[in-house]
Formats: sequence, structure tokens, C-alpha cells
Amino acid sequence: MNGRLIRMVFVLSVSGFTSGVALEVGFGEVDITPKLGEEEKVWLAGYSPGRQATGVHDPLMARCVVLKDGEDKLAFVSVDLVGLQYSAVQEIRKQLPEFSYVLVSSTHTHEGPDVIGMWGATPFQYGVNDDYVQEVVKKTEQLVKETAGRMTGEVMVSFGTAEDATLLKDSRQPEALDAVMRVLVFSRKAGGEKVGLLVQWNSHPEAMGSKNQLMTADFPWATVRELKRRYKCPVAYFTGAVGGLMAPPAGPKTFDYTEQHGVAVAGLASKAVEAATPIELTPMKVTAHQLYLPVSNKLYRLAKTMRVLRRAGYVLTDDPYLRGEAMSPKNAAQTMTIETEVACVQLGELSLAAIPGELYPELVYGKFQEPADVGADFPDAELEPTMVGILGNRKWMLFGLANDEVGYLLPKRQWDSKQPFAYGRKNSQYGEANSCGPDAAAVVMKGFARCVKEGRTKRKGQD
Ligand SMILES: [Zn+2]
Repeated sequence: MNGRLIRMVFVLSVSGFTSGVALEVGFGEVDITPKLGEEEKVWLAGYSPGRQATGVHDPLMARCVVLKDGEDKLAFVSVDLVGLQYSAVQEIRKQLPEFSYVLVSSTHTHEGPDVIGMWGATPFQYGVNDDYVQEVVKKTEQLVKETAGRMTGEVMVSFGTAEDATLLKDSRQPEALDAVMRVLVFSRKAGGEKVGLLVQWNSHPEAMGSKNQLMTADFPWATVRELKRRYKCPVAYFTGAVGGLMAPPAGPKTFDYTEQHGVAVAGLASKAVEAATPIELTPMKVTAHQLYLPVSNKLYRLAKTMRVLRRAGYVLTDDPYLRGEAMSPKNAAQTMTIETEVACVQLGELSLAAIPGELYPELVYGKFQEPADVGADFPDAELEPTMVGILGNRKWMLFGLANDEVGYLLPKRQWDSKQPFAYGRKNSQYGEANSCGPDAAAVVMKGFARCVKEGRTKRKGQD
């Protein structure tokens, strides 16, 4: 083994038994809209480069939920951004050592500032204002600390789901959706009044489309506003499995339509709230692994060479949990990997999957096309483990773009970048261009399966 390789595996186990201690929750939010002015250009992320912001329709927010079980504190933060990168999340965590785990997930709005790099003035220019990212890091740290200072006292929790496929469109064959809304309802133990909702829905915040130049959280803006109005409590919105890709049904790309759609999504969340039944969220345990995703995408490699994408790269090793040598001109011909993280946050009866990108819904439910289309590049590839395959009958939620945005995580059997193309098409479907490569999904899903298995083993050991 190469002596320069560093093993970067970390497992966090939060607390043993804390039964008898009251679960508390805190909710908080802060405005993270970037400044806009003569000197301060904002490049909007999510479609083509060169789309400059001209104003603000609604503020971009960071929203935080802190759970406290005795001494243990976990924070879940959702930011209205296209995909905050792993390095920024690691910086946030450094300032929050008193938390057992901090998760930061992006909603993936396509109407906010570039925080990755690909959407600058031209395809060859870096679109990120690094000072802005630092501001998000600082505001998020502050938000988590302040939220932890405003805990509610003992709470009861219920978990509910509701399904509506009419609120989604899958723009890529084969059709596979995750049309399930998942909610956690927190209520005060004394009195039963609602103190907050955590909502997870699975759709690209892109109802405004590619021509809009006003910054907005997109439809989740109206979803959160409507739920706050109905329940008179704070609401945190998280994005789930949006690969494939999951988007609002085609509409006129106006703020009226975006608002209507957001309110309809709030309606589905209300059904989930009505259906919710009590759930125990303690004890809390987190198992996380850093892993290294192979990047075969030539555009990503080119963008990195051009310094449009600036995250660190490492040479691929034969172990996805092992960091290879840093990429340099000497080893530029080798396969590059990027460092990311996958986690299973076990909250009592609820498993919370933290997936660092845009997971295809096929990898949620295992509804793979059988047989795969013969035009695909790897129709006989091994099937990846799926969420439901790994978690069985457990109750779960999924945070996509959790702690990172590595792009689409596609089933390898659907990978289709070479002729002949699947479904008799003349060209490739959209997806591969924004994915690290055909093997990324397997690394992530196997990593998640490992987290779940290790979490269970540890539980048994403590029993
Ligand atoms: Zn996307």
C-alpha cells in the first residue's frame, strides 16, 4: 500500500442510552440573500452560465432545526442555495464543536447565487463570490448557536407522509418518482401546541425557469410561508431525492404559478401533518463516512483545469474510503476522485439518510427498469443498493444535497452517454453531463448501507 495514502474514515456515535431525558427542539432562520449592487454582481446558478441577478423577489434563507437529547445536540440546516460544497460545511462544523453532528443541506434552488463555480459570466469564468460563501458559513454557525439557545422544553413528535404524483414531473425516461411528502411535527409536551414542522419534499426549486433574474427560493418560498400561516409555527423545508429529474409540472414560469405550486405542495404537507402518528426520536446516533467518488466526467475535469470548479481532487485508489494522493500535473492522467460524505442519522425509530447529491428515485425504491434498455451503456451493470432495500420497513426521511452537491447519482444501468442511445433517441438524455460518472451512485449507496449496518451493530453492542 502506498504509504502516502491517508485513511479518512470517521464514525460518529452519539450517546448511548439517554432514555428518561426529555427531547427538546429549537427552530431558527436567517436571511442569507447576497448583496446586490454596482460592485456586487450575482451570477444565478442552475441553468446556463451568464444569468445575472437583477433583484430579489423573496429572501434566500438558512433554516435550522436543533435536536437536544440530554447533553447531545444535533443540528440540521437547510439553505436556499443550489448546493453548498463540502468544504464550506466542514468550515461551519469547525466552529460548532459542542454539536455531535451538524448537517447542512441545500434546497437546490435554481434562482440563487452560484456557490459551485460553473455559472459565471461565461462557461470559462468562475461564478462564485468567495466572500459571500464565507458570509454564509458565518451566518450558519451563528444561526445554529442561536437556535440552540432557544430550545422549547420537552416535546412530542409525530411523523407523517402523504403522496401526490401530480405535483411532480419526471423529465427523463424511464419514469420513476418519489412523490412522498414526509413531515415531522414537533409539539409541546405540556399543552400540545405545535412548535415547528420539518418538511421533506423531492423536487427541483425551478418553477421560475431559466429566464428569471430575480433571486428567489422558488416554490419552497410559498410552501414555507403557507405552512407557517396554517400552523403558526416555524417551518424548515428540506429537499430529498431530486435526480431523474424531479421538477414541478410544466407551467408558465411566473411568480403566480410558482406561488400556486408552492401552496399546493403545502397542501400535501398538511395531509402528511394530518396523517402523522407519534414517533420516538431518541436515542440519537450518527454514523458517517467520508468517501471518494470517481470523476470520469470530462467537463468536470476541464472545468477544474480552468479553475471554474475549484474543489480538491485525489487520485483514485481501490478503496472508496481511502484518500489518494492529491491530483497534480504529475498524476493528471489518473482517475480523479472528490471527497464527500454520506451518513445515517438514527433518530430513535426514524432513519435519516444524508445523501451528498441528487439521488435518482430508482435508487430510493428500487423500481429499476427490467430489463434495462439495450441502448444504455451498461445494461448489465450490477444494481446499486437502494434506500428501501437497505432500510426495509423502517420509517425514514432523506436529505439530498446533504453536506455537499456532487451532482446526479444515476443508476449505472441507465448511464447513456454513447451511441446507440436508449429509447431510440438521437442524443443522450440530460443527466450524465451533471454527474461525476457511472460509478458514483454505487459508492454513495454502498457507503450509506455501511453506515446503516455499523449503526445497528453499535446499537446491539450497547444493548
Ligand atoms: Zn439538479
